[in-house]
Amino acid sequence: MAIRPLITPVAFAATVAAAAGSANGSTYPAFPATPAGAEAAAARLAPRLFEQAAAADVEGGFPTESFADLAAAGLLAVALPAALGGAGLDAPAATLPLLRVLQSIGRGNLAVGRVYEGHLNALLLIQQLGSPAQVARYAAEARAGHLFGVWNTEDPAEGVHLETLPNGRYRLRGAKTFASGAGHLTRPLITGALPEGRGWQLFVLPADARPPALDRSFWQPLGMRATASFRADLIGLELAADDLIGPPNAYYQQPAFSGGAIRFAAVQLGGAEAVFEETRNFLRGLGRTDDPYQRQRLGEMALRLESGRQWVRGAAEHAARPGATTPTGAEATVAYANMMRTAIESICLNLLRLAERCVGARGLLRPQPFERLHRDLTHYLRQPAPDAALADVGRFVLEGKDFADLPSPPTGANQ
Ligand SMILES: Cc1cc2nc3c(=O)[nH]c(=O)nc-3n(C[C@H](O)[C@H](O)[C@H](O)COP(=O)(O)OP(=O)(O)OC[C@H]3O[C@@H](n4cnc5c(N)ncnc54)[C@H](O)[C@@H]3O)c2cc1C
Repeated sequence: MAIRPLITPVAFAATVAAAAGSANGSTYPAFPATPAGAEAAAARLAPRLFEQAAAADVEGGFPTESFADLAAAGLLAVALPAALGGAGLDAPAATLPLLRVLQSIGRGNLAVGRVYEGHLNALLLIQQLGSPAQVARYAAEARAGHLFGVWNTEDPAEGVHLETLPNGRYRLRGAKTFASGAGHLTRPLITGALPEGRGWQLFVLPADARPPALDRSFWQPLGMRATASFRADLIGLELAADDLIGPPNAYYQQPAFSGGAIRFAAVQLGGAEAVFEETRNFLRGLGRTDDPYQRQRLGEMALRLESGRQWVRGAAEHAARPGATTPTGAEATVAYANMMRTAIESICLNLLRLAERCVGARGLLRPQPFERLHRDLTHYLRQPAPDAALADVGRFVLEGKDFADLPSPPTGANQ
């Protein structure tokens, strides 16, 4: 059954725009202007997101207050270049600060991190694939507090299709599932099948003007409740030709498609950092810091977290190398990203297991945060095709390929 959103996208955009003090998109004095500034702003905000997380953790809920804070801190615009009012996190050379921003937001609240990762991904895709006019328009909207995301997942039996109309417009049918932020995102970037097998087309749905019908009953999850990842039915909604982004199938180009896994892995690692911090606080609060077994577990947790941070550094270095997007480079970039996401999944699962033993049954009771952190991280670790990701690493090395193999960039190339 389709249910209307409780908070309309229009009201949400107005809330965050007002909080950002930039409702007309013309001023953004407090926005971070450099990658380091973005990293610092996200780190500063993380404790506040953590404080807000328990209140938003309800089925059908959404962390509206947290996103107003992200907007006010200028963090909705950081994936834009400085010339467009951003912090330059769109540049491959800024991959490490980009991942660290995501890690901090994930440490604050994984549900916020999931939706925020989609927002940044959408802005990166628009800059890679959109026309200059589209980039300028959506950059202004991001600065003004519009929330973007990417909705790709669907049940093939009711997948999204675009039908061409005689007036040059398109009519949609079909639905997306796991549509994070549904009812709150004003600019979801969506994939749909073009007629006559012409491929998959990305488009921006202006969801404030043309809201999808939401089925909230789809989202009865173990964790990540506050992501509002509903089923969104697009039937009957129309698009203008100008809403389409890039050529058919551009969304699935490598290394951007699978290589983007390093972003969700960075958010997940942030969740594991929160588990570590809370475990340490809990044991200190109980005065259980002298026990050798607790010390051993904390040592193991610290070691695993640090190896996760090294993976983040390695993946960022890899993605930023010259030649990373050439055909040979793309294969190595994807294989490395697959390895990194698999390693971080394993690190997070181990952190959860160790934290459970440290805090015991008492620690897993609310209002302690472990119960929520555990549910959120466990659910968020379930990302697409984990088996295929690791098998692809195996294929890559069995074929004798090397992660360091990259062709020399053409003269003058900057990535
Ligand atoms: C909190 C949350 C928010 C999300 N938000 C969004 C969003 O905003 N937009 C969006 O597009 N998506 C979103 N997703 C969906 C996400 O990107 C993945 O599609 C989804 O998490 C993968 O679902 P799954 O684990 O059921 O996948 P599956 O692919 O079914 O994987 C489950 C298991 O089956 C295995 N497997 C996969 N294929 C096969 C096969 N053919 N044969 C045998 N085994 C197989 C996998 O390796 C894995 O072990 C979200 C997911 C979560 C958890």
